[in-house]
Amino acid sequence: MFESIYIETHLSSHPKVLEILQKYPHSIIHKIAKIEDVFQRVKKPYLQKRTNLNLFLGEKKGQLVKPAPPAYGLSGEPHFYFVHAYNCIYECNYCYLQGYFHSPDIVLYLNHDQIAEEIKNVVAENRIKCPGTKIWFHAGEYSDSLALTSLTGELSYYFKLFKDLPDCFLELRTKSINIRDLLKEKPLLNIITSFSLSPEKNCKENDLKTPSLKKRLIAIEELHLNGFPIGIHFDPIIYDNDLVYSYEQLIDQLVLSIPAESIRYISLGVVRFTSEVYQQVKKNYPDSQLLAQEFVKSFDNKIRYSKPMRLWILSKIKQLLIDRNMDPLKIYLCMEDEDHD
Ligand code: SF4
Repeated sequence: MFESIYIETHLSSHPKVLEILQKYPHSIIHKIAKIEDVFQRVKKPYLQKRTNLNLFLGEKKGQLVKPAPPAYGLSGEPHFYFVHAYNCIYECNYCYLQGYFHSPDIVLYLNHDQIAEEIKNVVAENRIKCPGTKIWFHAGEYSDSLALTSLTGELSYYFKLFKDLPDCFLELRTKSINIRDLLKEKPLLNIITSFSLSPEKNCKENDLKTPSLKKRLIAIEELHLNGFPIGIHFDPIIYDNDLVYSYEQLIDQLVLSIPAESIRYISLGVVRFTSEVYQQVKKNYPDSQLLAQEFVKSFDNKIRYSKPMRLWILSKIKQLLIDRNMDPLKIYLCMEDEDHD
């Protein structure tokens, strides 16, 4: 899969590096001082990921755990994300990564011990600032949380960490069905695997190279039956004339895999882009149905559908969920601001 693998020199004999190299005996190996010396130095078009993908292995420096944007999760609880990877092996045509990095190459950071220390520091600070509140951590802000875990093997590390942090939650957000390593772990109530789902037609049109909806639903069922908590994201919701019918179908399929009352939460988010990502989408997928509707610049400078349209979509889908026994308190609206356009 990887034409070249770039490794920070000081990690050359790191056990994980050696393990990964064994899996890719045909990749060309480059030793580099640090990832930033090479990654993004030359602009590489996003769609080159189809034919030429490189891998970078290194250590993340700087702020390892960051506050998540507002409206990221259930309100009233602090949310943070940690950075352990950049970029993704899938190719969703709305993906914000296409305008975020100047290269689609995959970066994997291996210093999970330092990320764990930072998570513990954030927990300690927040226990002083807001005692008794649940604190959330999200993996995969710049990648898919599960897609490459069989390569990186960090899950057992985070399961050990969060076992000792019962008042904190970890969300593993994914479209992957790579659940083999997850199933080796003993489920914890505070580690939630959350799947992004769209109606089948939208998955086929927009979630390029990802596992199908059907396969994701099978993975959800298997995890649920094995006791792993499940969250769901209907995000991004893309409008078309069949929206209501296709979401009715999606919800019906979902509740066959996991009863509505067993889903920990469902987030709803209507498609949105930063200006840079919107330009990239237009360039990379000019004929996509994704661009068929009219977009406007909204309260946070993101490109979205008009506010009345977003509110209509969100209330409609929320009601469909409530009609199928989903507790309204478990439904949240992602990245929406009720007071602004
Ligand atoms: S799975 Fe997520 S990170 Fe990967 S391409 Fe799709 S939207 Fe981007």
